[in-house]
Amino acid sequence: MMLLRPPGMSAVMLLLIPLSVCIGGCGRAERAPLPCMERAVFDDPAGSPYVLPYPVGASYRLAQSYCYPYGGHRDQLAYDFDMPIGSDVVAARAGVVRRVREDLPDTGDSREAGQHNNILIEHDDGTVAFYGHLKQNGVAVEVGQRVAQGQRLAASGNSGNTLGEPHLHFGVYQSWPATEGFDVAVNFRNAEGPLDERRGLAAGAVYKAQPY
Ligand SMILES: [Zn+2]
Repeated sequence: MMLLRPPGMSAVMLLLIPLSVCIGGCGRAERAPLPCMERAVFDDPAGSPYVLPYPVGASYRLAQSYCYPYGGHRDQLAYDFDMPIGSDVVAARAGVVRRVREDLPDTGDSREAGQHNNILIEHDDGTVAFYGHLKQNGVAVEVGQRVAQGQRLAASGNSGNTLGEPHLHFGVYQSWPATEGFDVAVNFRNAEGPLDERRGLAAGAVYKAQPY
């Protein structure tokens, strides 16, 4: 087939056009916001890089799972683990601490969404885990610190809008800075407990952290 080209344009220039169009674009897929359940595609938990965000041997009830239509997770791939204030929270995955906040009281009655004590940890693949509703002055790590998987991060708490139920909110962002929703579908390789048909954790079930 003959390629028609504008007068004055060499074959080399024609070849360069798609190359230049791709710089800064073709490798990165444009991410249109998908409905929550379409983002909830879980891999085999046995190969998950994540462990439960609490110590081996501990068990907690999952109060709210991902995409729960009636609560704060309706558009989030996030989990709420019911925990008494002061329970140990550990790193679900190794990484570098990017942000901490621990100044808010454990009253559980904040009206402002997102205003609670929290830790953000960036993993080696660029994803970022969020640990929320932590105890006032309960954070045990600092910004810039590298933490190992399973390392203690904080005491759980009741800061922010918990509706009065102390719990740990856990979710993972695609990248830093974390400006979008929790959109990484995470399960845990050491979670003993039932998974739903998508292989995510199920609200109402209790999950025990097994050795890993
Ligand atoms: Zn939550």
